[in-house]
Amino acid sequence: MSEVIRLLPDNIANQIAAGEVIQRPASVVKELIENAVDAGANNIELHIKDAGKTSIQIIDDGKGMSEMDARMSFERHATSKITSAADLFTLTTKGFRGEALASIAAIAHVEMDTIEQGEQIGTKIQIAGSKITSQEPSSRGKGTSISVKNLFFNVPARRNFLKSDNVETKHIIEEFNRIALTHPEVGFIFSHNGNVIHKLDGAGLRKRIVDLFGRNFNDKLVPIEEETDIVKVKGFIGKPEFSRKTRGEQYFFVNNRYFKDSYFNHAVVAGYDNLMPPKHYPSYFIYLEVPSNTLDVNVHPTKTEVKFEDDRSIYSIIRSAVKLALGKYNIAPILDFEHEAQFDLSIEQQNSPIRQPEIRVDSSFNPFKSSSSGSSSGFSGSGSSGSFGSSGGSNSFKSLKPNKEEWEDFYKITEEAQEELKTEEEEEISFEEPLKSSSNKIQLHRNLLLIQVKSGAMLVHINRANERVLYDELMEHFMLSPIAAQQLMFPYEYNLLSTQKLEWENNSSTLKRLGFDWDWKNNTLVLSSVPSMLEVEYVTQCLDGIIEKITHEELDKGELVHELILSLSAAATNHRSKALSEEEMNYLIDRLFQSEQHQYSPSGKRILNTISIEELNNYLS
Ligand code: ADP
Ligand code: MG
Repeated sequence: MSEVIRLLPDNIANQIAAGEVIQRPASVVKELIENAVDAGANNIELHIKDAGKTSIQIIDDGKGMSEMDARMSFERHATSKITSAADLFTLTTKGFRGEALASIAAIAHVEMDTIEQGEQIGTKIQIAGSKITSQEPSSRGKGTSISVKNLFFNVPARRNFLKSDNVETKHIIEEFNRIALTHPEVGFIFSHNGNVIHKLDGAGLRKRIVDLFGRNFNDKLVPIEEETDIVKVKGFIGKPEFSRKTRGEQYFFVNNRYFKDSYFNHAVVAGYDNLMPPKHYPSYFIYLEVPSNTLDVNVHPTKTEVKFEDDRSIYSIIRSAVKLALGKYNIAPILDFEHEAQFDLSIEQQNSPIRQPEIRVDSSFNPFKSSSSGSSSGFSGSGSSGSFGSSGGSNSFKSLKPNKEEWEDFYKITEEAQEELKTEEEEEISFEEPLKSSSNKIQLHRNLLLIQVKSGAMLVHINRANERVLYDELMEHFMLSPIAAQQLMFPYEYNLLSTQKLEWENNSSTLKRLGFDWDWKNNTLVLSSVPSMLEVEYVTQCLDGIIEKITHEELDKGELVHELILSLSAAATNHRSKALSEEEMNYLIDRLFQSEQHQYSPSGKRILNTISIEELNNYLS
């Protein structure tokens, strides 16, 4: 009988190992930047072409390598970072498995140019499919440059698995963000196809967050800090009012290493208690420090999962640190009626009577059927706040027809979303409609309407009601034809980061459909038109919302449209209401009750609540 078991040649073993460590261009970026950080670099450059599929280059000013080490570094299990298994528990470096360079060299064309600190002559090595193809002295001044071309050139199956350039770029940006956030003290340059996406100077954490995610983040962050023997907690968490329906920036780091952990994520969310609307997610940048012998980072090849010795205690500490941070931030007394908490907490919903909702909708209305009735849009460009579109009724779009197949998916999404909302809604308490008398409404503190209803009094938050009505109209309208734009007398300028510019351009057809039109002055967006219902002074607020949605969330087209319209309706309505005439109050309430979702604003906040006659009388007893 002949033996059938053979040892695999190194290059094949490396290819197999590469499958674990290197899944996509972003994995190469991660491993190489980590190596640069481990080499003590103060400045790191990342240049990619075609989402990293064609080339990835990383240049650092770290300590470099000798000729011997440069060759050795491509061997499997070649590492300078540990010498025994026990070292795994006293790690101070990102890498330690000695697999990355060997794996990358097995599946790409790699060129390394490096010089050891203090030496005169460097080494340039070319390697492809695990074989060194050339080696020569080099005249490099400092550090190391590694370029990785034609990723997966010899593993076509893997190459075929790669996603579109857009998706792969997003993965790279995510890896980049994680490392840039771990090391705010290191300067970074990041370019894609020759365009600089980030140029980050070494800075403190707050500045790094703002440089990466945009200046509007500055107002959203609350510092978090806690120190115990088991763990030190530092960093920033997002104010509850900036929480969102989709996962945003959620980052955990431990001992200078990014990690994912759904258990600790739960601790953070628990710390927000009921300060967040249901199904919303907070942003956070939380840095833990634990004694290194209580942490195992070697549980996963890509090292994004780690194991803590005392995760239960850490859970409680994180939760209370979050609570404490939010408590401190909330200490300032809030007397302003516009603040959400005032409205939400003032009335106990569980005491209100349960009633069947009565919703008046035109059930025969079908936006796809043309009819002879008027086609005037409710968005004629008047730009008036609060009482927008008073010329348009619920069927003012009847004669418009859907004109683009590409929006078909959108219907599906909205239907699904509506279903979901409906099921949520069923658990909620329903409200009777206000009485139809003309003089039963009083505007309180501009922002609230007090309305007499049969069973007592109803309080309506005007901005949220406006937001709901506008949102519903826009969603309905958007499916059929582009939203009316208003030409600006003076172009409106708004600075973007390069990443944001990329995403803006990626979504240009949707943004044009919303009523925006623009030119570029470098990274500055120069708007020549904006949606007609948006007043110029609220354009920044609207753009802040839009930028946040298009840059940091992986949304499909339908979800994105929903989010963008949400940003637009919030910006067009979320400001101090003007004094409403009786007619305007009636119109608003009429429109509100035509909405199936008249209890909640599109961003999930309560629009109205009733107080029973009994409760009202109790106030005086
Ligand atoms: P690991 O990082 O797990 O040790 P790698 O395969 O990523 O394994 O790297 C192997 C070795 O090559 C490292 O331990 C380090 O000594 C050296 N090395 C890699 N990249 C650099 C760099 N940019 N500068 C200096 N040395 C490097
Ligand atoms: Mg490494």
